[in-house]
Amino acid sequence: MADQLSGAGLAAASDIPSLDRLLNAEALRPALATHGRTQVVAALRRDLEALRKRALDGGVPRHELDAAAVAARTSAALDEAARPRLRAVYNLTGTVLHTNLGRALLPDEAVASVLRALTSPANLEFDLDTGGRGDRDDLIDDLLCELTGAEAATVVNNNAAAVLLMLNALADRREVVVSRGELVEIGGAFRIPDIMKRAGAKLVEVGTTNRTHAADYENAIGPRTAMLMKVHCSNYAVTGFTKSVGVADVAALAHARGLPATVDLGSGTLVDLTQFGLPKEDTVRETIAAGADLVTFSGDKLLGGPQAGLLVGRADLIRKIKKNPLKRALRVGKLTLAALEPVLQLYRAPEFLAQRLTTLRLLTRPMRDIQPQAERLRGVLAHAAGPSYAVEAVPMFSQIGSGALPIDQLPSYGLAVRYAGSGRPGRHLDRLETQLRRLPVPVIGRIADDALWLDLRCLEDRDEAAFTAQLAEPLA
Ligand SMILES: *Cc1c(COP(=O)(O)O)cnc(C)c1O
Repeated sequence: MADQLSGAGLAAASDIPSLDRLLNAEALRPALATHGRTQVVAALRRDLEALRKRALDGGVPRHELDAAAVAARTSAALDEAARPRLRAVYNLTGTVLHTNLGRALLPDEAVASVLRALTSPANLEFDLDTGGRGDRDDLIDDLLCELTGAEAATVVNNNAAAVLLMLNALADRREVVVSRGELVEIGGAFRIPDIMKRAGAKLVEVGTTNRTHAADYENAIGPRTAMLMKVHCSNYAVTGFTKSVGVADVAALAHARGLPATVDLGSGTLVDLTQFGLPKEDTVRETIAAGADLVTFSGDKLLGGPQAGLLVGRADLIRKIKKNPLKRALRVGKLTLAALEPVLQLYRAPEFLAQRLTTLRLLTRPMRDIQPQAERLRGVLAHAAGPSYAVEAVPMFSQIGSGALPIDQLPSYGLAVRYAGSGRPGRHLDRLETQLRRLPVPVIGRIADDALWLDLRCLEDRDEAAFTAQLAEPLA
């Protein structure tokens, strides 16, 4: 039997080389140098076991037993296993602050600062003036106060944590009055009623979905009321026959009864975005000036920094929040602070902001840059996609994303890919979408209306050469 197989170019189980012989083979040297003996031995065992099984089942082509062939398979398996799971992608979805793609991109200053904090000791909780113990919030609280007009500030892991902490510190076993029009759910897991419950506070809903009046807040205030709270409708808009009570009026009502008014601003911008041609969004400073006693917002939405939750407002309330044990559990690490400080610094020079703050640079990227880029890349993608697809450079609309300004759209330009053959396009578009997603740097677009849309707003000119290079060959 074995003779017969060898005659046909097939090897038997007894022909399989030993583990020791392979480990000493020249061909395995690179794998050993890259991955180390432990992993190479384990991978070789798996490979030899598979060969043995196939040999017993009927035979293995002889050339698959060569040390070079075994080494190639082993290296490929180990390289694949060692490939980073968190990878860079091209965000061509048209949503600039895409939660699933990591939201804001950090400016160079922040990246350099994180690198320093990663590789050298730093004064995270060490007062360089006195030599005594410091507070990590001291690193950024005066900057935050300067930029928002607030008396005091603190930082936690994200805005959800900021809201949870604020509610637990100021409203444990007491009532929080919120309009029914503002009971938001953000990305599935953050829902105002649930976070309220977890914080130990009792939600008192007032008004209706579309209309809430000052009297609704007023009538809900009782002996157990801890605060009046407003929540930014980050990912939806109530339009038509509507009425809501602004921050100034809610604050006035709260203050008349000796209560704080708090605002979950969601995205929370530090500058007036209309100066950059973007839609109006209340700034943190305006919200504080309108009378809010505490404002919470995200670090990685419009602010353009790292994931973080910022709380700014009255000094006595911030003090109380910082004493709450949850603060310790939700605190930020040094990398967050290292990234946040340079981002906040950029806001001190608003005239440079649109160039230096990556998020704002992307949001304000001019059509005169995006449109010619689309014309340049049309042919590149058409060649890569092959004759089954028609690629056009077309105008489209980007979104800010991440619950910022949900309905406003930014004019943009990009590529629309349609199936050029006859029949239903769905399967073919899915195939192309998958091929682009499997590139070394995955290209993420979106399929809608029988086309694959690639919005080029977030492909900055400095990334274009690398983008083009990986589309040089037709997609397989
Ligand atoms: C985004 C958002 C949150 C959650 O913020 P994270 O930083 O993602 O935790 C909470 N409230 C509102 C209104 C939001 O828009």
